[in-house]
Amino acid sequence: MNNQIIANKILNWYDINKRTLPWRKQVSSKKKQYYTLVSEFMLQQTQVATVIPYFKKFIKNIPDLETLATFDDQKLVKLWEGLGYYSRVRNLKKTAQVVIKDFNKNIPSNFLELKSLPGIGDYTASAISAIAFNKPYIPLDGNIERVLKRYLYLKKEHQITKENLHEEKKIFGLTTRSSDYAQALMELGALICKPINPNCDQCPISVKCISLKKKDFVLNKIKKKNKDKYYLLKVFKKNQKYLLIKNTEFNFLKNFDIFPMQEIIKPKNFNKDLNIKLSNMNMNIKVEYNNEVKPVTTQNWIDPKNLHNYTLPTFTKKIVNYLENHK
Ligand code: SF4
Repeated sequence: MNNQIIANKILNWYDINKRTLPWRKQVSSKKKQYYTLVSEFMLQQTQVATVIPYFKKFIKNIPDLETLATFDDQKLVKLWEGLGYYSRVRNLKKTAQVVIKDFNKNIPSNFLELKSLPGIGDYTASAISAIAFNKPYIPLDGNIERVLKRYLYLKKEHQITKENLHEEKKIFGLTTRSSDYAQALMELGALICKPINPNCDQCPISVKCISLKKKDFVLNKIKKKNKDKYYLLKVFKKNQKYLLIKNTEFNFLKNFDIFPMQEIIKPKNFNKDLNIKLSNMNMNIKVEYNNEVKPVTTQNWIDPKNLHNYTLPTFTKKIVNYLENHK
């Protein structure tokens, strides 16, 4: 099958089978660019099904770039609460401000200009270029990567490096419908070439798929090592409330309320009380209860019974839940 035939088959399949997603609505091109920007930020590290209600709520409250650029930070974080990776929403707002100031309120269509914006790397720049501006990019997300690896049966370590996958994706060819094609490939991975039990009998490119021929759908990944980190977490309690402080020290969850904590070098015989995975960190945490409360400038006392009333990162909520269950 040549590249053009592959592209046509996938587009034909997409035209019939694509899902109705809120950011795929028929809207003005300006709105489409904004919807693509917001949805692509949300979809970094989060699944489509999870993103849908968040996207709807976000757009209802913040319908355009201008509103986003001046939107209250606390309310913004509240709209994002539960999606995690809060640096995304802070960068999204900064991007809106830069677009208004430096790009005359127009999201740039140029890949390098997009990449210069806060929170936009190679992947998001190519996704926005393709989806919002119909530029000939194929963003290599998890779905497209899966289709590619299976179609070409790429299993060996040197075959599945990012560099090689970017080379191999040329097999998909290009079309004048770049926006649809990027989404079609993602959709094919999400709906048909699923991580487990791919629906090969409904796949438009099954004829030449090597994984199907070999009946081997197992995917190999380059193993990323999580960094082990060790922390001493200090719990101060007064009137049944926990003390939280604004995090200005650690690079994760910057400016969010966390328990006072200290990173330590792994002591001998370290018995962790809880373990939390955050980005690429495997956090081993030892809890230390303290009676005397040191005065802290940015302190905030939270009542564990009203946890839902606070804007807190999931990380802090997990710790509160742990403490409440281990009294
Ligand atoms: S034939 Fe099956 S394994 Fe191959 S690309 Fe299609 S869905 Fe994936």
